[in-house]
Amino acid sequence: MVWMVRDALQHAGYDCCIRNQYAAGGSGDLSLLDSWPEVWLVCDEDEKAALGILHERFESPGSKANWLCSHCKEANAGSFEFCWNCGHDAPEVP
Ligand SMILES: [Zn+2]
Repeated sequence: MVWMVRDALQHAGYDCCIRNQYAAGGSGDLSLLDSWPEVWLVCDEDEKAALGILHERFESPGSKANWLCSHCKEANAGSFEFCWNCGHDAPEVP
C-alpha cells in the first residue's frame, strides 16, 4: 500500500519517499510501529493537498469503471489514475 501511496503522490508532483522500507527484517528486535514502512513528504507544506489527493484516489474507488491502458493494454482498476504497469495516464472520463 505504501508504494501505491508514494506513486500516487509522485505522479501528482509531490516529492516523497518511503522510510523503513527494509526495516521488516528487524521485526522482533524493533517494535512493530518502528518497522512499518511509511510514506514521508519532503515538504510539510504539501500535507493538506497530498491528503486531498489520497482521499480522492483511495476513498472513492467505486465511482469509476475499470479501464485498459491505451499504451500497454494492461487492465487497471477504476480507482487508478495511471497505469500500474507502465505509468501511462488513465483516459479522461467525460
Ligand atoms: Zn500501461
